[in-house]
Amino acid sequence: MTAISPAPIAPAFTNAELAAVRADFPLLGVAVNGHPLVYLDSGATSQKPRSVIDVERDYYETENAAVHRGAHTLAALATERFEDARATVARFVGARADEIVWTSNATEAINLVAYAIGNATAGRGGTAAERFRLAPGDEIVVTELEHHANLIPWQELAARTGAVLRFIPVDDAGALRMDEAARLIGPRTRILAFTHVSNVLGSVTPVGELVELAREVGALTVLDACQSAPHLSLDLAALGVDFAAFSGHKMLGPTGIGVLYGRRELLNALPPFLTGGSMITTVTMESAEYLPAPQRFEAGTQRVSQAIALATAVDYLQSVGVERIAQHEARLGARLVEGLARIPGVTVLGPAVGEHRVGLATFDVAGVHSHDVGQFLDDRGIAVRVGHHCAQPLHRRLGRVSSTRASAYLYTTDDEVDAFLAGVVAATAFFG
Ligand code: PLP
Repeated sequence: MTAISPAPIAPAFTNAELAAVRADFPLLGVAVNGHPLVYLDSGATSQKPRSVIDVERDYYETENAAVHRGAHTLAALATERFEDARATVARFVGARADEIVWTSNATEAINLVAYAIGNATAGRGGTAAERFRLAPGDEIVVTELEHHANLIPWQELAARTGAVLRFIPVDDAGALRMDEAARLIGPRTRILAFTHVSNVLGSVTPVGELVELAREVGALTVLDACQSAPHLSLDLAALGVDFAAFSGHKMLGPTGIGVLYGRRELLNALPPFLTGGSMITTVTMESAEYLPAPQRFEAGTQRVSQAIALATAVDYLQSVGVERIAQHEARLGARLVEGLARIPGVTVLGPAVGEHRVGLATFDVAGVHSHDVGQFLDDRGIAVRVGHHCAQPLHRRLGRVSSTRASAYLYTTDDEVDAFLAGVVAATAFFG
């Protein structure tokens, strides 16, 4: 076999710059099982810089109030911070502020769209909502790459409406079969939901081509941007998707906050999912009228400190530079995959050495369960993700029960990748 030697990706940071970034993350300094922590599970959740941790505490110490309600000074201040946070996150992803709906996480954001479409199908939302109505036999298309969060809500919607769920398959290497996409997306397709970056393979989906196919047949597009928003420069308006979802906790923000993006005219035509306080204009004992988006989708007391902290996370990412972070991660992804591919008995899933991937690598060790690999690495202070990564159908398609995933972020160093690779070598020797 010919040896592949991909062109090396230049370092995005000097050692001193990377050390300065790391110093901002308190948790990176801890020891685990007697070893300095090597955190390679950022794909599951990222660590948080001190500015994000501090801003939540400061908010509770100095500004805490319910937003959009009280006439008092603190309420006005909290509302201003909350809406400023929305504007910051909107700019970060190429959206308008009123196209950003706060949710608890990406899972809730995708469920919100699916349930709201179900409500439209049930006759809610009047004539404005007609475009969302599904008829029995209409098709919802997803891909075989999906995280369960972008699969099960569509299975449920199909079951509630009589729509049919279809999926674009992947090939043996996990690449999306675009020939099949072109064949599957047709006149009955009403929704095309797909991931931007695979949380298992680290591969980047051809968003433009898929949006084009959906547009040709008038289907709505829903992008799962969970693994792209933290790692790539994202311009949702330029990508042309109708809806997108991502989670704050994967991009240096706190848990408990996620984002649903929707094109303004679509959000304003969509009936609500959750109903109650803060999302209405007029209520009688019989009925209610709803505010425009985003408030119509934000029922109940809002997650103010989390929104402010997510905006602080965005400020942090921008201060480091999103393009530099992407370059750093592409370099680490290549180091991970090249190193793993050299270890006998290890199979790397997804794009081959030299092909583009974000900073993650998922692999299988012949004859060793991923839980054993993960436990062995944890004994050395190395944190990775094991199991099916909420993507059972993809694992089944690739002939695996489970796998081990190492995922890097802006704070990951070459030395940490090398410590991890040495750990995998030792694991294969130990279990072999
Ligand atoms: N989609 C992808 C691709 C993910 O990686 C994840 C999280 O792992 C999710 C959706 C769900 O995110 P959350 O659990 O934050 O809702």
